[in-house]
Amino acid sequence: MRDVIIIGAGPAGLATALSLMLHAKKNGVSPEILIVDKNLSPWEKPCGGMILRDTFRIFPSISTLPGVEISGIRIVYRSIDNVIWYSEPIGKNIGRKTLLKFFFKHLDKLGIDLELGFLVRSVSAEKDHVSILGKRRIRAKVVVGADGAASITRRIIFRKGIKLRDFGLAYQVWVKSSNSLEPINEFYYGREYSPAGYAWVFPHVDHLRIGIGALADRVNTSSLRIYLKKLLKLKRRKFNEIKIIREDSFLVPLSGGLKPIVHGRILLVGDAAHQVSPLSGAGIHLAIKAGALVGKVLADYFSNEKPRENILIKYEKVWNSMYGRKLRLEKILVDFLLMHGSKFGKNKIRGDLIKAFADVLVGQKDVKYLVMKYLRLSSPALYTLLKHFSSQDRDK
Ligand SMILES: Cc1cc2nc3c(=O)[nH]c(=O)nc-3n(C[C@H](O)[C@H](O)[C@H](O)COP(=O)(O)OP(=O)(O)OC[C@H]3O[C@@H](n4cnc5c(N)ncnc54)[C@H](O)[C@@H]3O)c2cc1C
Repeated sequence: MRDVIIIGAGPAGLATALSLMLHAKKNGVSPEILIVDKNLSPWEKPCGGMILRDTFRIFPSISTLPGVEISGIRIVYRSIDNVIWYSEPIGKNIGRKTLLKFFFKHLDKLGIDLELGFLVRSVSAEKDHVSILGKRRIRAKVVVGADGAASITRRIIFRKGIKLRDFGLAYQVWVKSSNSLEPINEFYYGREYSPAGYAWVFPHVDHLRIGIGALADRVNTSSLRIYLKKLLKLKRRKFNEIKIIREDSFLVPLSGGLKPIVHGRILLVGDAAHQVSPLSGAGIHLAIKAGALVGKVLADYFSNEKPRENILIKYEKVWNSMYGRKLRLEKILVDFLLMHGSKFGKNKIRGDLIKAFADVLVGQKDVKYLVMKYLRLSSPALYTLLKHFSSQDRDK
């Protein structure tokens, strides 16, 4: 029997394994880990590849991987076209293959087994172990479901299937361009770009990734393709030559996070646990943060003389207090903007509000900061009152 099986060799599963081994080493234990993935090339999954800066605090070497360092973002909304530059890079656009190979190299050195081409068809919790069933049955003391947006672990063990209203559908093309690319990630908002979401243009080392995302219950791939064609037309005006070299679409969880994410000896992490920003659709940095946390909790579990399931629940508690609440607030903001966004007049959207929105988008500020900024501009009396209440609250 293995100590841990991780289902899924994406950022969440690989970060979990690396963090577990590094923490276990410190604790003087060496759990036996197996990672399985249904794909022989798990790096083929579609992704924009924007990795936000706070990821580099967890695994600093990721910042040195080949990619395009991003120092600014462009926000286009109605007639507003704002470029916000940051004094330090906000992150890096890195290909999924480069990122996954970085993890594979380190995990291989640590002796972790990886089996690609293993499709998990079922997961079952027994009294003292967990079984996964694919081309053969494998047993483990603990199973981590890092199996992405359509997670089978989530569907079978946590009984949460795919409700389209909790997901976004993203359609993306890779284009080759003969122009030199600016180190800026672009975000396009408004009905002309996406019916219920946004469009993006991210530069990579030798191509651009241009995509559209929208709530999955409102669109399908063909309708998104029409929006993307319009954006490409706009881009063609600026670029000498544009050639599409790849296109794909995929689901992105946008519910703001699931509860529970721990069930006995089974833990969910990354897209499987809906750990994605509802505002930006970005999930790599969160998958890596959550994986790092799961790895630490599992190392504690295996270092304990009598490993108890209540050690595992720590992951859920810490996740919720550090990130869960913030993601749920983002979801409330997104729902609000989808309902009332069109009522915001141009006069209400000022430069410093756009900057605050950008700060939230790139993970440097949270939603509360943006809402307070908006109130300060639109309703100073209410803003002062709320500030007063929150300072009274703090003094108690
Ligand atoms: C078009 C698009 C663009 C995006 N752009 C960005 C971006 O720019 N920045 C960002 O931060 N996020 C972006 N995201 C989101 C990001 O890709 C995900 O949040 C991130 O990949 C989540 O990592 P994960 O490891 O949880 O899941 P995944 O990366 O989906 O990995 C899950 C793995 O599990 C495997 N698997 C699934 N089911 C099984 C099974 N039954 N048996 C065995 N293996 C299985 C899969 O093959 C896969 O390799 C984008 C998503 C899409 C769709």
